[in-house]
Amino acid sequence: MELTKRHKQIIAIVKAQQPVSGDQIAEQLGLTKSTLRSDLAVLTMIGTLAARPKVGYIYRGEVFEQVVSDELKNMTVKNAMESAIIIHQDDTIDDAITALFMQDVDTLFVNDNTDKLVGVVSRKDLLRTLIMGNNHSIAVAVIMTRVPNIHMATPQMSILKAAKLMTERQVDALPVMKSEFSFDVVGKVSKTTLVKILANLDY
Ligand code: ADP
Repeated sequence: MELTKRHKQIIAIVKAQQPVSGDQIAEQLGLTKSTLRSDLAVLTMIGTLAARPKVGYIYRGEVFEQVVSDELKNMTVKNAMESAIIIHQDDTIDDAITALFMQDVDTLFVNDNTDKLVGVVSRKDLLRTLIMGNNHSIAVAVIMTRVPNIHMATPQMSILKAAKLMTERQVDALPVMKSEFSFDVVGKVSKTTLVKILANLDY
């Protein structure tokens, strides 16, 4: 929502003088309280200001920002990871495409015969191979991105570090490994996981 000049003036007054009553804000802006009523209602409704009865208006934007940053700083991958969909290196391109649709995911993790991670296959990897006219029966191992080029997370990693890793390395998901030197996948974090965290923040 686009804030008007008057909204911004009100926010500045509340930020500087909170708690501050509607009468005080009106007086400083040279307006009547009834003129301000709808502006204050809008700012309260969108969560920028909170009205405390008999106390006045306070700026809630800051409260929100503080809650968000505190919660995110303390959150680890372990708190947020989701289950990883794992396929086998001998599975075909067709198997991988079926898994993407059936499991409703964008990234598949590929294990070898000893259940250790050997690669990652993304939606675009599969699209690319189809466009190139490759046989759908070839193994995913032929097209996957391979270890040691896989960016990984651990359960102890902070969620902010995982987010940075995904943006810096331009990947949509990270496998979560049992520990730093393990190739056992215990889950995943993805950009969708990050959106879910934001949507569930309690503020
Ligand atoms: P998409 O290709 O569908 O946009 P990504 O951006 O995640 O999905 O993948 C881009 C490329 O990076 C693909 O070739 C994929 O195999 C590879 N990739 C995906 N995840 C990882 C990861 N965690 N580490 C390394 N490479 C990855």
